[in-house]
Amino acid sequence: MENEAGKLVRIGIFGGTFDPIHVGHLAAAVNAKSGANLDNVLMVVANIPWQKDGLRKVHPAQERLALVEAAVSGVEGLEACDLEIRRGGQSYTIDTVIEIKKRFPGDELFLIVGADVASEFDTWEGVDDLAALVTLVIVNRPGSNRPTNLGAVWNYLEVEVPSLDISSTDLRARAIEGRPLDYLIPSSAIQYIREHKLYGQDEQ
Ligand code: ATP
Ligand code: MG
Repeated sequence: MENEAGKLVRIGIFGGTFDPIHVGHLAAAVNAKSGANLDNVLMVVANIPWQKDGLRKVHPAQERLALVEAAVSGVEGLEACDLEIRRGGQSYTIDTVIEIKKRFPGDELFLIVGADVASEFDTWEGVDDLAALVTLVIVNRPGSNRPTNLGAVWNYLEVEVPSLDISSTDLRARAIEGRPLDYLIPSSAIQYIREHKLYGQDEQ
C-alpha cells in the first residue's frame, strides 16, 4: 500500500506488556514515529508475555488493552492493537510480525524496542526470521546501554527520544503504596484505573 505521499506505508510495531502503559511508552512511540518517518504505530498488547510468565502477576490482557486504548485515543497515528490477545496463549513477536506481514504484504515493518529489550534479543524466538522481516527502531531508555553487535543480524536505526525514567514496575509499586500516578500515566488511563479499581492494594 502507498501512503498519501505515494510511498510505501511504513508501519511501526511497538509491543509491550503495558502493565500499565505510561508516558515513557507514549513519548517513545510518537518520537519513534516521527524520527523514523512512520505512518502509524501499532501498540501491540502482549497476551501472555513469555518473559514475565510465572515471575509475577500480569494484569488481565483486556484491562491492559483498555488502558492503551484510553491512552492513545485522539493521538494521531497511534493505535491500540489486540492481535496478540485475539491469538491467545503466549505472545511471540515473530508470530505477530508474520500476521501483520500477511495482512499488509506491501508495507514496510519497523519494530520499535527500548534499549533494554534490544539487549536481550539472543533470548528471543525466531530472531533470524524476525530480522528478515523488520527494521529495528531502537529508542534510548534510562538505565540501559545502547545495544552492541546488532549489525550482524539486524537492519536497524536508533531514534533519540526524551529520557524518561519511568517504568510500569515503579508505577505498580506507586499504586500499591498510594503514591501519585499523575503525569506519569495519561489522565484518560488514570481515570480508567480509578473507575475500575485496578492496580489497587486489594487486587495484588
Ligand atoms: P515493566 O517494568 O513491567 O517491565 P516497562 O515499563 O519496561 O514495564 P514494557 O511493557 O515492559 O514496559 O515495555 C514495552 C516497551 O517499551 C519495551 O520495548 C521497553 O523497552 C519500552 N519502554 C518502556 N518504558 C520506556 C521508557 N521509559 N523509555 C523508553 N522505552 C521504554
Ligand atoms: Mg519492561
